[in-house]
Amino acid sequence: MIQKIEHIGIAVKDAEASEKVFNALFNQKPYKKEIVESEMVQTVFYQSGPNKIELLQALSPDSAIAKFIEKKGEGIHHIAFAVEDIYAEIERLKEEGFQLIHETPKAGADNKLIAFLHPKSTNGVLIELCMDKPLE
Ligand code: ZN
Repeated sequence: MIQKIEHIGIAVKDAEASEKVFNALFNQKPYKKEIVESEMVQTVFYQSGPNKIELLQALSPDSAIAKFIEKKGEGIHHIAFAVEDIYAEIERLKEEGFQLIHETPKAGADNKLIAFLHPKSTNGVLIELCMDKPLE
């Protein structure tokens, strides 16, 4: 079951420059910065009340974020929904006919297991499913 919006991902050209904007907007500093090697991105996380924002900057021209910015410019990149059981949700959505970018969840930033749905099957919106990583 989809529980809530977990965060909104925003593609930025320059995380450091964008931090100034979002520090001023939220009147606080990010609570976390993390590089996701597999995606070649630098992430920056803000929590403001119940809302979480993830800034994403490409660390390589081959990164999906670099390609997104090239095509569409900076802006909202994805909406992430928290799910209770990402494995069950992937199976359910596949049965519903959604196209998944990841059929098995992978490690994402901020201690999550994640999977993306292809925007082709979601009216152009890139959707991320995420679940807290079980403790090892
Ligand atoms: Zn995300």
